[in-house]
Amino acid sequence: MKAVWLENNQISLQDVSTPRKPDEALIKIRKAGICSTDLELVKGYYPYTGILGHEFVGEVVEAQDDSWIGQRVVGDINVVCNQCEQCLNGRPTHCEHRTVLGIVNRDGTFAEFTTLPVANLHRVPDSVPDEMAVFTEPLAAALEIQNQINIKPTDRVLLVGAGRLGQLIAQTLALTGCDLRVVARHAHQQNLLKAHGIKVIAEEDAIAQPWRWDIVVEATGSPSGFTLARKAIRPRGTLVMKSTYKGEMSVNFSSIVVDEINIMGSRCGPFGPALRLMESRQVDPTVLIAHEFKLEEALKAFERAAETGVLKVLVEP
Ligand SMILES: [Zn+2]
Ligand SMILES: [Zn+2]
Repeated sequence: MKAVWLENNQISLQDVSTPRKPDEALIKIRKAGICSTDLELVKGYYPYTGILGHEFVGEVVEAQDDSWIGQRVVGDINVVCNQCEQCLNGRPTHCEHRTVLGIVNRDGTFAEFTTLPVANLHRVPDSVPDEMAVFTEPLAAALEIQNQINIKPTDRVLLVGAGRLGQLIAQTLALTGCDLRVVARHAHQQNLLKAHGIKVIAEEDAIAQPWRWDIVVEATGSPSGFTLARKAIRPRGTLVMKSTYKGEMSVNFSSIVVDEINIMGSRCGPFGPALRLMESRQVDPTVLIAHEFKLEEALKAFERAAETGVLKVLVEP
């Protein structure tokens, strides 16, 4: 089968053998999405060799349990051992022996087929089309914020960054009824937010208010985004870190101690609620789609996704 192979910071389209794992389902990919993590893997921020991709919707073509065959599915990207201390204590996404689809020791989804244990699979409701279902993983990641902290309707919440993940975070935070403002760099990012009734705020206004923000979500993954988020948070506020940073970042931790800031890292989230929010059309991620490419043109798709301000690029086998 054709697949996007990453090795030594180089991606290439290769012919590889179709994966077969006796205790996992074989999934035919219908659509896969390029996310910032994929672009960072290509730049070599994390070591990985193999097939890239973790955002997908597909169809089960082989499984030990026939009831899965023919089902349209999305899949949790962390494959866990269910035996280590993290797994046994309800933190499976932190499994000490985990492999992660297209990220850690497990071939991913920019290919004709991939495999996952059926325990990772979620059936996609018929009313959720492929171009929506392919966003389940990033939408779940956005929802992890609400899983981790209680956002009150009285909270002033600032979201810094309105890229691929930021747009989904904005749409889900808006559902909490909090007083939300978003710092968005590009005009089309701002327009997308406004179309959903979400208020945009200029960077300078976000830190010029006489009051500061109860919760700030950092979704730029850039040191300047972090600096802005740090300036904007009130004492004893919560700073949610939703993006990884390239290399190391220097931070004035004394001021964080003095202001008693809570800093919270946030990663993978719940698929069930993500599918439900799309089924009820409370969240519509399809507005993020910038381009769709065939798998044969995957290298072009990666170039397009790396251009500044481009939101979601999809790849279809
Ligand atoms: Zn991703
Ligand atoms: Zn484990």
